[in-house]
Amino acid sequence: MLKLHVLASGSKGNAAIVENAATGAGMLIDCGICKRDFLERCDEAGFDPARIDAVLITHEHGDHTKGLGVVLRGLAKLGCAPTVYVNQACIDASSALQKVAGDCAILPLSSGQRAIEAAGLRAFPFATSHDAAASFGFRVEAPDGDALGYITDSGIVTSTAHSALRDVRILALESNHDERMLQSGDYPYVIKQRIASEFGHLSNPQATEELAALITESRAAGLRAPEAVVAMHISQNNNDYDLPRAALEKGLAIAEGNARVLCGYQGRLTSVK
Ligand SMILES: [Zn+2]
Ligand SMILES: [Zn+2]
Repeated sequence: MLKLHVLASGSKGNAAIVENAATGAGMLIDCGICKRDFLERCDEAGFDPARIDAVLITHEHGDHTKGLGVVLRGLAKLGCAPTVYVNQACIDASSALQKVAGDCAILPLSSGQRAIEAAGLRAFPFATSHDAAASFGFRVEAPDGDALGYITDSGIVTSTAHSALRDVRILALESNHDERMLQSGDYPYVIKQRIASEFGHLSNPQATEELAALITESRAAGLRAPEAVVAMHISQNNNDYDLPRAALEKGLAIAEGNARVLCGYQGRLTSVK
C-alpha cells in the first residue's frame, strides 16, 4: 500500500513523499522547502526522513528545487544518500540543481523511460505541459498493485498524462487557480497569460473536468477510480482552499463518483493513506 505525505504545496514551495507503507521507505517528489519545514513535517507524518531512497524532480522551477541542496546535506548527516532523478535540461537551466549535481548520485529522468525503481516502488514519469526546460508528473505503483497519480505544474492534461493517471487509488491533481480571481487580480498581464496558458497551471474547472473524465472512463473500462483526491499547487493569490475542494466535489458529482477530497497546503502537512 502507498501513503502520500504532501509536506508543502503551492507557488512558494513544493515537496511530497510517496511512502511504501509495507516498508517505511519512500520517494521524495520535489524539494522546494527549507530543511526545518522538511524535517518537521516528516516527523508529523510519522515518516523517518532517513528512509528516503530517491528524489524525483518534476522540473527546475525554484518552488520545486530551492531546498534540495540543504535537505540533501541534512539527509547525509542521517546517513541517507538518495539518488536524485532529474532531467538533464532541468539541470542545465538551474543553478540550484547544478550546485547539487556534484555532491550526489544523479540519474536521468525522461518521459516514457522504464520505471524508476526505489523504495520498493516503481515510478513512471510522464511529460507535463509547462514552461520549464522539461517537466514531469508521475505514476507510482507498489508491489501489491496499489497506485498513485501525481500531476502539478501543467497547463493542460495531455492524453499521455491522462492515461498515466487512470486506474489509481490516490490522485494528487493540480487545482491552481480560479479563473475569475486570476483575471481580476494584481498580476501583470503577461503573468496572467502565462498561468492560464497551456504551459501554465491547471485551473479549478480543469481539475473538475479531469477528475470527472477519469472516473467516467474508469467505470466504463472496469478500472479503479480514485478513493482519495488531493488538490495540489493551490495559488494563495488566485484561489482559496474552498474553491478547489468544491471543484473536485463537482467532478465527483458529475461522474457520480465517491472519493475523499483533500487539499495540499503551503504551510502544513496533508497525509493520505
Ligand atoms: Zn510550481
Ligand atoms: Zn513550475
